[in-house]
Amino acid sequence: MTVESDAGAAVQTTCPYCGVGCGLKAERLAGGEVSVAPDPDHPANRGLICSKGAALAETLGLEGRLLYPEIRGRRASWEEALDVVANGFRRVIDACGPDSVAFYVSGQLLTEDYYVANKLMKGFIGSANIDTNSRLCMASAVAGYKRAFGTDTVPCDYTDLEQADLIVLVGSNLAWCHPVLYQRIVQAKSKNDNLRVVVIDPRRTATCDIADLFLQLRPGTDVILFNGLLNHLRRDDALDWEFLDAHIEGFGAALSVAKESAPSVLAVAVACGLDEDDVLELYRWFGRTPRVVTAFSQGVNQSTSGTDKVNAIVNVHLATGRIGRPGMGPFSLTGQPNAMGGREVGGLANQLAAHMDFAPANVDRLRRFWNAPRLATAPGLKAVDMFDGLDAGRIKAIWIMSTNPVVSMPDAERVRRALGRCELVVVSDCVRDTDTTACAHVLLPAATWGEKSGTVTNSERRISRQRRFLPEPAESRADWRIVTDVARRMGFGAQFEYRSSADVFREHARLSAFENDGTRAFDIGACAELTDAQYDALAPFQWPRRASDGAAKRNAPRTAEPATAGARPFADGRFYTPSGKAHLVATPPRAPAVRPSAEYPLVLNTGRIRDQWHTMTRTGRSARLMAHNPEPFVIVHPVDAARFGVTSGDLVEVRSDTGRVVVRADVGDSVGAGHVFVPIHWSARFASDARVGALIAPAADPVSGQPEFKHTPVSIRRYEPAWHGFALSREPLSIDGGAYLARARGQGYWRYELAGEQIPGSWPEWADALLGSREERVELIDSAGRYRGACVAGERLQACVFIARTKALPSRGWIAGLFAEETLSDASRLAILAGRPSKPALEAGPIVCSCFSVGRSTLLRAIRTQELVSADAIGKVLRAGTNCGSCVPELKALIAEAGGPDVR
Ligand code: SF4
Repeated sequence: MTVESDAGAAVQTTCPYCGVGCGLKAERLAGGEVSVAPDPDHPANRGLICSKGAALAETLGLEGRLLYPEIRGRRASWEEALDVVANGFRRVIDACGPDSVAFYVSGQLLTEDYYVANKLMKGFIGSANIDTNSRLCMASAVAGYKRAFGTDTVPCDYTDLEQADLIVLVGSNLAWCHPVLYQRIVQAKSKNDNLRVVVIDPRRTATCDIADLFLQLRPGTDVILFNGLLNHLRRDDALDWEFLDAHIEGFGAALSVAKESAPSVLAVAVACGLDEDDVLELYRWFGRTPRVVTAFSQGVNQSTSGTDKVNAIVNVHLATGRIGRPGMGPFSLTGQPNAMGGREVGGLANQLAAHMDFAPANVDRLRRFWNAPRLATAPGLKAVDMFDGLDAGRIKAIWIMSTNPVVSMPDAERVRRALGRCELVVVSDCVRDTDTTACAHVLLPAATWGEKSGTVTNSERRISRQRRFLPEPAESRADWRIVTDVARRMGFGAQFEYRSSADVFREHARLSAFENDGTRAFDIGACAELTDAQYDALAPFQWPRRASDGAAKRNAPRTAEPATAGARPFADGRFYTPSGKAHLVATPPRAPAVRPSAEYPLVLNTGRIRDQWHTMTRTGRSARLMAHNPEPFVIVHPVDAARFGVTSGDLVEVRSDTGRVVVRADVGDSVGAGHVFVPIHWSARFASDARVGALIAPAADPVSGQPEFKHTPVSIRRYEPAWHGFALSREPLSIDGGAYLARARGQGYWRYELAGEQIPGSWPEWADALLGSREERVELIDSAGRYRGACVAGERLQACVFIARTKALPSRGWIAGLFAEETLSDASRLAILAGRPSKPALEAGPIVCSCFSVGRSTLLRAIRTQELVSADAIGKVLRAGTNCGSCVPELKALIAEAGGPDVR
């Protein structure tokens, strides 16, 4: 196994994006370039990949990286910066106590990073004020599993999706958010005619492409739907009474609530806004199919009743005994690459390390293991409460690691204000300029994917190595090392004597087995004595991996997994509760915390888009990925569009009680009437006003603390600026002011969408500020007041800008194509001034297939003229959809739009 590659040696590592945790092979090529390909040997993806993973090599440049420590904007040495951090935290703790400081960490961290951060805060600072952005992603799943099983243990594997005969996807746009799992299901469907897929979602997402049944339920009514299922299964005598008697507690109370809240199929249909026959179909399929997997993600978790939703789902699996065996179980799909690793080491404020909670015996055990007399004895502040504490001045020093809460937290503007008031804000990150680094007093440069080494755990409890294949650039360092350096300066050197990530991992493994004796499900004691070489060569494996599993595992070849590793949880019907029985939790339905009103009549849903990840700090660097959706947008149902006078392409202001965004309208019926959808990704780096977090009220689930991102009352109105425009430029432009700005990287240029509320006195003078000298500029203002200007250096187009009073502007695709001309022809120069191509050009349109840059217009033309009737047929003609396959649902939608059949 190569650990740090020289050119030409491929390194097996894992993708840094979603919770699927795909294995990748990364290789430094001669000349310094990097190639990234899917790993055919990794059990998570078996050679599959999605558009984001396939574009990873395009995101690795040093442009925009944070490369040196900084203190208040000036470059500093590591020694000085670490002293400022350690002394600053020490000073605040001495003056105000350990609960006056906090760490806000990230599911992007490796397990080893997470472990030492948690150890420093809970073990030695003596506060549990460490929480993670995974709180925003899957805390409800953790809380639901814990309530039901007595342990935060995901009971399923990805292979269960292939062995099931019914997959119920709840609040999960798998096709875009876990694309490789979606591809595995597509493959499984092609091999198993009995496999049916049900999609339950308020939005008609790309995942509906494989749905045999789609339930577009009213947001927030999931508990009623699953309570109704439990009640129906009881009426239909489809419960597993033997399993219930032997292994379950709480059935009577749960059923009683289910009967009361969902007395009939009709009542459920009415409450959920569904067709009665569709509800009955789901209930019958569930009742009559032994092998059922119910997979869920943020659509369930991100809710003020998220934990109850999880338990309502888990209840039907427990009551039918559909757990602990192949092809069945309630399956939480995590969003981030290492949300699960964070759970294992206590990255959540309400957990200790190694899946222990704050029970006195656990506190005592961990205190002894770490030799940490000051160990925190009670849970700390969860994310929303932590930033509340910051706002109220109770938190006086915070260290934010690898995350961007000024974009991603609810009430994001308040988060920004709160950071602005905080005495000491430390941010360790790999990116220099984020909305959050702008608030920092101290910036610490962190190594990033490809430069650091450690482990991550994916959604199926599989621990895989992330391996380093690039040097740490400039002065950047691994996060575990930065935390360790601060810990030493704070006087805890003896307990932080790590030389490598392997040292940290071994301690983590030892702790998992410490006084465990089968009482805790998370146990990787077999890894406690790994040598450095064995750690470097560690093959992906599922926990548990107990020491009693023996040396055979440690010496196994890389691709072999010992027979007992990852033994199926709950196969013996034993759970981690005091009685050994699982709990059915009574789940009375609760309405969302905030309801629409006359002022805010629509319900905002948020989520991810296919080609972006989080706040775009990485995926935003790839022109291919940006081409799919270069601007922030809102999807508005046609009924609401008519009601509020909005058409596609308009700028729209979306406003809530806490903030506003201005985004581009996309009118369509993927959302229901009364609902709108805005993606989560845009930050101030990419758009003037598109941080969706600014719209979200900080209401959280009372059990899990997970905020509600799926149900925010908002208003919309068409935003009418005095002018619209766009600019394309080979070099980044500095643009200040204006009412609207969205920037995106294109192939060889930057794209800026613009709008303003005041028409300048002179457009050429306005353009001076944007484009610089007029010497190389051609420009024109036509009789309608439209301005067009272009800079040509040598013979090449350098930059151009187009302004009009309306949104009717030249095609960006046509202009972008001119950047490829080595010598800009006279005809092209005239065409720019005319604002239209000299001869009709075949437009590619917005990119649908990122891998081969195939646009929507190209696809529609080919579908119509060549009578393409399947995604396969499109692939043969245009290659679209033949690499990662992420765009296949969109190809099929285009076939339908063009009026053709879809026979793939
Ligand atoms: Fe990465 Fe895509 Fe795999 Fe997720 S599905 S881990 S984003 S390659």
